[in-house]
Amino acid sequence: MSTRPGFPVKLDDTRKPSAGKSGPVKPALPRPAAVKVLDLAQAKPPVAKSVVRPVSASVRALGTGPDTSAVRAHMVQKLAEQGIQDTTVLAALGRVERHRFVESALANQAYEDTSLPIGLGQTISKPNVVARMIELLRMGASGQLGRVLEIGTGCGYQAAVLSHVASEVYSIERLRGLHEKARENLRPFRVANVHLIFGDGMLGYPKGAPYAGIISAAGGDAVPQAWLDQLAVGGRLVAPTVTPEGHQALVVMHKTERGIERSVLEAVHFVPLKSGIA
Ligand code: SAH
Repeated sequence: MSTRPGFPVKLDDTRKPSAGKSGPVKPALPRPAAVKVLDLAQAKPPVAKSVVRPVSASVRALGTGPDTSAVRAHMVQKLAEQGIQDTTVLAALGRVERHRFVESALANQAYEDTSLPIGLGQTISKPNVVARMIELLRMGASGQLGRVLEIGTGCGYQAAVLSHVASEVYSIERLRGLHEKARENLRPFRVANVHLIFGDGMLGYPKGAPYAGIISAAGGDAVPQAWLDQLAVGGRLVAPTVTPEGHQALVVMHKTERGIERSVLEAVHFVPLKSGIA
């Protein structure tokens, strides 16, 4: 985070007053308060005890970084051309500086529609997939979503995007190294409504339930029952899942009073959903 990548764009001072959530599309700017971190590593069973560790103790100034607003606007325009229609989702992707979530050597690819390695064999999803999944999560919703659970924090990019479309984001990661990295990556954004949890996302996170939305960034053979149990009636779940035909596809589940409505959409390639922590 301390190394500022070189960009083929104008250098500018990004320290400006923060735009509110409902404000116009602007580069992601500091927002008040801290990212909260809930550490479930010591808990047995994993969700029984959690320690809240605020990470705002030494909030670093953002300093002067590259102004990526033009490349972000271009990325958003391409997403719209590719069929993303939800303007709230497009605005959210326009606000988050994706280059802050990847290694500086990869920063010049941060606004291309490509997945990128984030360490420990994991990848950050390409912007089109992030946008598509959040659009599916919000389908039909006007205004902000309520509480959302993300399984697979990774580098924290999608959690940052979700923070602009949901009232609270609970994001759980099973790899301690990535959980810590996401905490570092998110610190300068000071997103008060993102709660990072170290634990096994297969169990969901009952403390934040019921969720208006659940989104998984890792693909399993089936959707864990815990996720369905923790989904609110009226809520939506979007997860890459292996289909009966044996390939991975995006599955959307809508919980209604009458039960679960399930739709299987396009084929995707996500890293595997694994149980336990490491
Ligand atoms: N949303 C992330 C994408 C990370 S890739 C981003 O924006 O960067 C998917 C992540 O899911 C990986 O970091 C992987 O470790 C994590 N994962 C896989 N199985 C998990 C589980 N059971 N609980 C929590 N995280 C899991």
